[in-house]
Amino acid sequence: MQNLTGSILVVDDNAVIRQIMKMALEQNGHHVTLAEDGREALELMHAHFFDLVLLDIVMPHMSGFDVLEHMAQIPDLANIPVIVVSSDNQIESAIRCIQLGAEDYLVKPPNQTLLRTRVNTSLRKKKLHDQELAHQAEMERLYEAIKEANAAKTEFIAMAAHELRNPIAQIATTNHLLGKVGALNKPQEGLLEKVNFSLERMQALIVDLDDISRLEAGNIRLQFAELDLAELIDKIAESFSEDVTVHQHVLAIDVPENLPPIWADYQRMIQVFTNLIGNAIKYTPDGGNINIKATYLPEHRTVHVSVTDTGLGIHPDERKQIFSKFFRSENAKVRARPGTGLGLYITKSLVEMQNGRIWFESEFGEGTQFHLMLPEASAELDPQTAEAPIEAVSLG
Ligand code: ADP
Repeated sequence: MQNLTGSILVVDDNAVIRQIMKMALEQNGHHVTLAEDGREALELMHAHFFDLVLLDIVMPHMSGFDVLEHMAQIPDLANIPVIVVSSDNQIESAIRCIQLGAEDYLVKPPNQTLLRTRVNTSLRKKKLHDQELAHQAEMERLYEAIKEANAAKTEFIAMAAHELRNPIAQIATTNHLLGKVGALNKPQEGLLEKVNFSLERMQALIVDLDDISRLEAGNIRLQFAELDLAELIDKIAESFSEDVTVHQHVLAIDVPENLPPIWADYQRMIQVFTNLIGNAIKYTPDGGNINIKATYLPEHRTVHVSVTDTGLGIHPDERKQIFSKFFRSENAKVRARPGTGLGLYITKSLVEMQNGRIWFESEFGEGTQFHLMLPEASAELDPQTAEAPIEAVSLG
């Protein structure tokens, strides 16, 4: 075992013992400081840094026990290892020293080999402990730095979303007025339509950025209520009717009328389904099928909803990242469609905030099925089951 060298304080009222230990330790390359009693030892410890203390017990003015007690109360000193070196070979003294924080116990005059080994072991332990503390401090520093950077980024996103909102609203109003102040010819109408389409995308992006900053700052308030899913899904499907027609998709809805209400936030559920159905329409080539199906699972007191499409599908390599912030597939067909990669991140966060679960299955090139589990309203209102989490269950 390689010898470690360190700065060692030897505390003993006997000058001969002090010198014997000094010589033995210096022979092994240690830097040695001597103290005649407990008081002098503590003064030295407050003024200098030591890797190890070799401490006598019975000394005038202040005993070794008192030194140990004092060291235990001062954080900077509590971490210095102490080996008690005493002529008192009573087992009670050894036990008391260990209880007071000493690391080891040697009987005087210490055997040279034993002294060298114990000192070496203590220094090694101290070095490992110091490295661990330094590592921990570094991790804490990094964690704080990341936290700060993340907070600055969230603040920036919130500020950008806020500052963009007004000019974009003004452009939208001006565009609207443009059509009113005089008749536009066909090419002008076409150009205005393009501007309006881009504006809508920017407005959607601002809403997403605003949600991201709120989610990250823990600043989203939900208004829970009983929701009729059948009605909500019909409404959202209706809002997509034009896109469905344009893309010649077939949109089928299979939601039983007697579905129990769920316990969720109405506006946020609209957002969740708008995103899932919007994606199904967007990522399905023209003429595809989109199915929305809901089933009540009484044993879990939840409602299972699936949104299935016959679209592009998700490549196995990309499945892990689907719910990550800003993730968009590398697939050129996906990239050809507008998007920010924020929708599913927000959707998942919102579903989980409403005690639900979301996951998906997909066959690349064939289609995707998103699943949602949402708590039945009476299960959430029933105090016996209110705390029970809903797990993603096998649907057979
Ligand atoms: P966006 O649609 O704005 O890109 P989302 O967060 O809603 O962002 O979706 C992230 C990515 O997940 C999409 O870019 C796409 O690659 C993939 N994706 C989502 N829904 C589907 C789907 N129904 N079919 C195929 N890929 C999908």
